[in-house]
Amino acid sequence: MQRGNGRLTPKYLLRERPVKWDPSYDLTTGTITVHVTRKAVKNFNLRVRSDGTAVMSIPWQTNRQKAQAFLDRHHYWLKRSIAQVLEKQPEAPDDGFVPLWGRLVELPCDLAVDELYHREVAQALPALIKTYEEATGQHATAWRLRDLTSRWGSCTPSTGHISINIRLAAYPPTCLEYVVAHELTHFIEPSHNSRFHLHLALVFPEEKKARSLLKRNPREVADAGASPVDRIPLIV
Ligand SMILES: [Zn+2]
Repeated sequence: MQRGNGRLTPKYLLRERPVKWDPSYDLTTGTITVHVTRKAVKNFNLRVRSDGTAVMSIPWQTNRQKAQAFLDRHHYWLKRSIAQVLEKQPEAPDDGFVPLWGRLVELPCDLAVDELYHREVAQALPALIKTYEEATGQHATAWRLRDLTSRWGSCTPSTGHISINIRLAAYPPTCLEYVVAHELTHFIEPSHNSRFHLHLALVFPEEKKARSLLKRNPREVADAGASPVDRIPLIV
């Protein structure tokens, strides 16, 4: 013990101790683990990465309690954001194979599933547009490829735009064909009434078959229609 200012002070308190900062650590809010990194930033920055993991950068001066309190305040936002990101992700290839046009193909390691689907739909679309524009007598002014979560396609008759979901590439080709025919038919009849189905049946008679395929999981469709030897490596 040493004497300082008339009081007895433990010796270890007199030595200047370096403050130990963890440059990075994990914090948990609810069931979500967030990787926290100290940086030369002024504010807390919380974000969800495209793989659904969460990261946060915090100022150097902030302590864990403040970081934890911030996370807890943003718990619901975080939960919702992670759910949104994961929902948008194409089906994860658990065995390196992904459904493509109704078959299972090996995903090249340098390609993401959505890139593959985008490329495939982009390649298949021009021929289908030609066929079904001629068949329906309708013309779209723009075709957009989208990674939609809830719809296979959409059209805006006022602008003549049609959007196509790239995930159609996971299903047998007839499904993309059906959606192209379906959306173009909307230029004749905007609602799904009997007139619409009559016009659609004239150019695409297999609507029921395509629709029932689209209700199923594409991996199951591909598995059911193919033996293991049908699993083909994809040539890029
Ligand atoms: Zn429709």
